[in-house]
Amino acid sequence: MSDQPPRFTYHPRAYELELIEQIDIECECCGQERGWIYSGSVYTTADVDNVCPWCIADGSAHLKWDASFSQDIEGVTIPGETKVDGASAESTDEVMHRTPGYRSWQGAVWKTHCGDVCEFHGDISSEELATLDTRSEALFQQDHAWVFKNYGTLTELSAHYSQHGGMSLYKFVCRHCGIVRIHADLC
Ligand SMILES: [Zn+2]
Ligand SMILES: [Zn+2]
Repeated sequence: MSDQPPRFTYHPRAYELELIEQIDIECECCGQERGWIYSGSVYTTADVDNVCPWCIADGSAHLKWDASFSQDIEGVTIPGETKVDGASAESTDEVMHRTPGYRSWQGAVWKTHCGDVCEFHGDISSEELATLDTRSEALFQQDHAWVFKNYGTLTELSAHYSQHGGMSLYKFVCRHCGIVRIHADLC
């Protein structure tokens, strides 16, 4: 029997992206087989492989092993706009301790905007990349100048970029103003 698993505010596509998989394995936190298991990283000194999404969502896995599910939250200063210093302590706590991580080469790092952590939406598509709005593009250029040094313009980059290639571009969306933030990651 499998109950409806919990949704995650900052990780709305966690199931679609298969960070949580439908599989009957016993959760090492609650000891139950509830039909869903998180398949991403667990950052803890304990040896933990299988955690159910309920134990992530309610904080019990974090409490039991002092575990985090992501590596870091990034701060940002936007030129010409209000200085945003990372994200609120509440949102940081929710993302690090009660939200699944995501698969990455160098460890899951979350983008922030408007004083909040952004939602994670997986690898951006080359179509989305090519049609990025100017505000989002400016921030992307500022964050990852090296990407533009290598590829030139956004048009050239989107022509060369492929999802799940050697360079990953993860898409984050601000929950308040909708700006897209991109985190570039190399294998
Ligand atoms: Zn559990
Ligand atoms: Zn925003």
